[in-house]
Amino acid sequence: MSVSMQGKIAVITGGAGSIGHATALTLAAAGADLMLVDINGEALAARRDTVAALGVRVETHVADVSKAADVAAYAARTLSAYGRIDAFFNNAGIEGKLGPTEEYDEAEFDRIIAVNLKGIFLGLRHVLPVMLRQGHGAIVNTGSIASERGLAGACAYNASKHGVIGLTRTAASEVGARGVRVNAVMPGVIDTPLLEAMLKMMFKGDVDAGKRVLGKVATQDRIGKPSEVGEVVTFLLSDAAAFVNGAAWAVDGGALSTIRH
Ligand code: NAD
Repeated sequence: MSVSMQGKIAVITGGAGSIGHATALTLAAAGADLMLVDINGEALAARRDTVAALGVRVETHVADVSKAADVAAYAARTLSAYGRIDAFFNNAGIEGKLGPTEEYDEAEFDRIIAVNLKGIFLGLRHVLPVMLRQGHGAIVNTGSIASERGLAGACAYNASKHGVIGLTRTAASEVGARGVRVNAVMPGVIDTPLLEAMLKMMFKGDVDAGKRVLGKVATQDRIGKPSEVGEVVTFLLSDAAAFVNGAAWAVDGGALSTIRH
């Protein structure tokens, strides 16, 4: 079966960001109508027309995924606009500040967990009931290669991304028999502003050196493109992945598959 999202309604959080936007383009190319959600209204407005140019309906909604009322509102808005939610890319995330665990700022820890972990929980909390009522739906949560390995200097980000996989597996086991699938995608090092912000901190401002070094993490000797994540997410959200549930799917150029030396 080739991947088609024809006639499906898909919600994307972080829809104005790099991976969210690339996935919006892939889902739109496969025929899905979209609700793009992001905290950044200006960026959302700038992205909207590019996606709509592919000939699908695109709505936007400004929300903070760490706030329950905002999450309830984007789910309700999607239902009033489209009547259902077939696919959900639960993706918004932040990198946060880097620092050793023994000195890590408590408020920063709470801020990162609120967006990257609680935001994913709230998305599940408000979208799963819709899908369970419908008797169908597919969700992809965004983890990271940091979901399966430690990441020095990023205790909060790392913990949040480990937690995403726990939420994914638990939800998948709860809803699988009721027609709903929940999977995670674990991007490796992907060329985005989020990566550049991290590299600035890790490599004292030398982003290009950081990209060269981190490209070596992948067996393919390069960093990945947002569209390469979008393709896998689109597959996981589609009926072509009908028997994939509770999976944590790496899109990392093989980084998690080996110890490079
Ligand atoms: P990005 O910064 O380009 O996009 C993230 C988007 O999320 C932005 O548009 C931002 O405005 C939005 N956002 C941030 N906080 C929000 C909030 N509270 N509510 C709603 N929206 C909010 O980054 P990206 O690289 O596209 O990241 C997308 C996801 O991929 C994140 O979960 C990130 O952790 C994950 N990821 C990225 C990489 C990478 O190398 N870029 C690697 C692994 C995982």
